[in-house]
Amino acid sequence: MKKISVLGSTGSIGTQTLDVVDITKEYQVETLSAHSNVALMESQIRKYAPKKVSMTDERAAKDLKVRVADTGTLVLSGIDGVCECAADNDADTVVTAIVGIAGLKPTLSAISKGKRIALANKETLVTAGEIVKKSAKEYNAEIIPVDSEHSAIFQSISNQEKFLKKIIITASGGPFFGKDRIFLTAVTPEMALKHPNWNMGAKITVDSATLVNKGLEIIEATHLFDIGVDYIQPVVHRESIIHSLVEFCDGSVIAQLGVPDMKLPISYALSYPERSVPVTKPLDLVEISNLSFYNIDNEAFPAVELAKKAAKDGGVMCAVYNGANEAAVEKFLKGECKFTQITELIEKAMQKAPRIENATLEDIADADSFAREIVKECC
Ligand code: NDP
Ligand code: MG
Repeated sequence: MKKISVLGSTGSIGTQTLDVVDITKEYQVETLSAHSNVALMESQIRKYAPKKVSMTDERAAKDLKVRVADTGTLVLSGIDGVCECAADNDADTVVTAIVGIAGLKPTLSAISKGKRIALANKETLVTAGEIVKKSAKEYNAEIIPVDSEHSAIFQSISNQEKFLKKIIITASGGPFFGKDRIFLTAVTPEMALKHPNWNMGAKITVDSATLVNKGLEIIEATHLFDIGVDYIQPVVHRESIIHSLVEFCDGSVIAQLGVPDMKLPISYALSYPERSVPVTKPLDLVEISNLSFYNIDNEAFPAVELAKKAAKDGGVMCAVYNGANEAAVEKFLKGECKFTQITELIEKAMQKAPRIENATLEDIADADSFAREIVKECC
């Protein structure tokens, strides 16, 4: 049995990871973490009997301790508790499924113990890609992508990176594909939270609607596959069946296909280089019958172009892009800013941000706070 830790175990990716554990029966859960969902964490403790868990919310940790006093599970708290769960000696693989930049520190803790990282938390590479990669090299920690597009690219490259010419990253287009900026100003949180193909956490669902998610994924891909943004072409593919493609120097294009179900890339990241039993229904191309492709409408959805600019600017600019987005999405979900303001606020924060070369973790944290402050001021 491979031993795993799941950070963010109560979320969309976290619970689907535990579904993969149930289906494959190939993994033993060593540690878990969540923020405040005590009820779900209690049931996960009773089912998987992990050695340790951590809740970042102190009050939730206190409550959980009382609830599971009859089990053998140790309950830790705060970000230090999550880092301890991430670095636990017994786990071979750590699934990083915390949402937002909050996932960065625990991911670095897991890396410092040379663990395999099954990386779902894209904000980790977006905000601190260079530092994370350097650390992974230093501690010999493998990073295997969980994000469906990056899993597809990873599988399609299949150790032939020296022949790689271009990446074609697919995007569902989200619930507002084909809509113009005027329509988008009236989008409510309820409308944005209805994704056509994927059932995900609230933040990434809004990111998919603004196309910030594709922007984050392009930045993530530059780090994972050592490729410049100009060699990554985003293409809208409404059906989310082709999860991404790569073009090699001879003109061959290789793609990975599958039903839109995150259990597939999660299972692959856990089993790599092996493959496991089926974790989802098989792909039926005749039933799907049509696959469609379109260019991104950069006028209505400026998020991708802004992300490319942030990647080219380098330094802390991607952390600014991410921090402004996290803060703006939070405000949008509370009804405190308009849908279209999300990308406007990102742009404003990027315009005002200082240019910093060779950014340290402290510079990145400062840039994140700076971007959040701009959003607060402008909203
Ligand atoms: P969810 O919002 O569903 O889950 C987030 C998890 O992180 C929960 O366990 C939550 O705990 C925990 N959490 C929230 N805030 C904090 C914090 N400040 N510190 C520590 N833990 C925290 O998110 P998703 O599962 O949708 O996404 C997780 C990551 O995976 C994101 O980076 C996303 O971009 C990426 N991803 C997600 C995909 C998907 O299909 N969902 C697809 C590809 C990538 P609690 O429940 O207690 O609040
Ligand atoms: Mg994705």
